[in-house]
Amino acid sequence: MSTIVGIDLGTTNSLVAYMDGKEPKVIADREGRTLVPSVISVDDQSWIVGEQARQRLITHPKTTVYSVKRLMGKGLADVGEECKYFPVFLSEKQPGVIQVEMGKYRLTPPELSALILKEVKQRAEEFLGSAVTQAVVTVPAYFNDSQRQATKDAGRIAGLDVLRIVNEPTAACLAYGLQKKKQGVIAVYDLGGGTFDISILKVKEGIFEVLSTNGNTHLGGDDLDQRLMEWVLREIEQEFGLDLQKNAESIQQIRLEVEKAKRRLSGEDLTEIVIPIKTGAVYRRPLKRVELESLVNDLIDLTIGPCRQALGDAHLSPQDIDEVVLVGGSTRMPLVRRTVQEIFHQEPHCEINPDEVVALGAAVQADILAGGIQNMLLLDVTPLSLGIETMGGGMSVLIPRNSTLPTNAKELFTTFADGQRSVDIHVYQGERELVKDNRSLSKFQFRDLDPLPAGMPRIEVNFTIDANGILQVGAKDLRSGKEQSVEVKPSYGLSDEDVTRMIEESFTFAKSDMDARSLIEARNEAATILRHTERALKQGEPLIEPEERNRIQEQITALKKAMEGDNHRLIREWIDQLDKATIHLAERLMDSTLQIGLKDKKLSELP
Ligand code: ADP
Ligand code: MG
Repeated sequence: MSTIVGIDLGTTNSLVAYMDGKEPKVIADREGRTLVPSVISVDDQSWIVGEQARQRLITHPKTTVYSVKRLMGKGLADVGEECKYFPVFLSEKQPGVIQVEMGKYRLTPPELSALILKEVKQRAEEFLGSAVTQAVVTVPAYFNDSQRQATKDAGRIAGLDVLRIVNEPTAACLAYGLQKKKQGVIAVYDLGGGTFDISILKVKEGIFEVLSTNGNTHLGGDDLDQRLMEWVLREIEQEFGLDLQKNAESIQQIRLEVEKAKRRLSGEDLTEIVIPIKTGAVYRRPLKRVELESLVNDLIDLTIGPCRQALGDAHLSPQDIDEVVLVGGSTRMPLVRRTVQEIFHQEPHCEINPDEVVALGAAVQADILAGGIQNMLLLDVTPLSLGIETMGGGMSVLIPRNSTLPTNAKELFTTFADGQRSVDIHVYQGERELVKDNRSLSKFQFRDLDPLPAGMPRIEVNFTIDANGILQVGAKDLRSGKEQSVEVKPSYGLSDEDVTRMIEESFTFAKSDMDARSLIEARNEAATILRHTERALKQGEPLIEPEERNRIQEQITALKKAMEGDNHRLIREWIDQLDKATIHLAERLMDSTLQIGLKDKKLSELP
């Protein structure tokens, strides 16, 4: 069996990991480098990806792109202001699909990301000595459905079957084995090259739930480099009277140098920046860690607000956080660690390399999918409830929202009309009580039922969702054993905003929905009980006294009258009255084959 790899497709850097026995490991290239800069450049006829492309950012600005991740799953309108950060020209191929113009090529973001994926795929194949065709790829927790879909598309273009898209903070937790905690709340602080993300997750019995996310889409190591670079440029101007602002090549050179110095200062207290200048002179500057810290302190402080906001959104205070996990290359800086400690009043986890931790977690998830890690629950949950339509347009939920995958559920249903030969199984997704407010996923007709009186057939409907989120819906006639099933894709085409909106609406509308649904249910139940009672009355007439018959008849009239109104409580009351009035009759019919389930109210009815 071939290995399923885990891939962190990052804004700044990408990397690939695999499971080496029980331990996840990042795969390095021949030179021992693990990170692949997420930069793509085009030469006359070939593509250059990674470190070499990064070197061309300044020399070939019109044919080199970075930060493609920011464009995934977006149209030009979604990118808006951000356009100005891209030195390459962006246009729209079709509404909602961006096209990046690089020399004579025009490529969509998934195609560009696919080039990065191909690079890491190839690296993994070389290392593992076999073809790699399946992967788990990580995305930020806030990515919506189309961004996730675009990421999947990128995988497909690169020849990778993306078995699972995993949230980056969830992957980081997996790398730390936090799924083994019975329960807890985890803050994942991710400061990368160009983005800052804070996610608050809840883990319970191996399942992660994102409670809140926040961050800053333009804050990261790049900003620190920029700060340091501007400072160096000023010093060069003062010392040598040279203005290098407009000199693209010098700028690039200085940027690369200060970035290296910044990294060194995460491990040392003092370093030296050395930059040869064209005139033959050399700029030399010892730089202390404390100097760097005072230079960028305000930028790091910008992460405090989003953390507080995320805590607030999750209705938590720092004391409620059980663990803090550091992710992203910039969290290697001691200043960042101190800031995180101040925010959450505890020492963050940093035992695992913060720029590898996401890829390592993706490899753990890949191993779970491959079945390597036993006795561990899968980590996805259904974002919305799944159910079927019952008589009158009610939603009967089989699998509630936030159920762990894989999962299955069954429930019994029956027919509404006498002699019904088929029932409609109409599958819906959503939180509202009436199907008209939910999203229709699929519909099929379950045919060839034996014609029986209403309420007699026992139809078992079962829902099964596999690890990939594919829903299978089946129906079985328990009398005849006949079965039928369809496959439904539950979340395709539904954006995260849709999901969020649908969940929010369900809270707003909960009360009126409940009333509407209760009324439908009460009327349905009343109709059923009336039909059954009237029939029972006919069949059982010789068995009871005329007074009893009249009493039941009165109750029937009262219930019919209540059904015309819209008070479901009143209908229920008369159902109960009628129920009581027919106990004796039901008993008399008990022995006979005419017993038709007067008391059987558990079954819902299918149209
Ligand atoms: P992304 O998730 O955005 O792809 P990474 O997690 O790979 O990014 O982080 C890249 C950033 O981390 C860069 O800005 C880089 O300069 C910074 N970085 C990497 N190593 C260090 C270090 N030792 N000290 C400080 N910053 C670092
Ligand atoms: Mg990252």
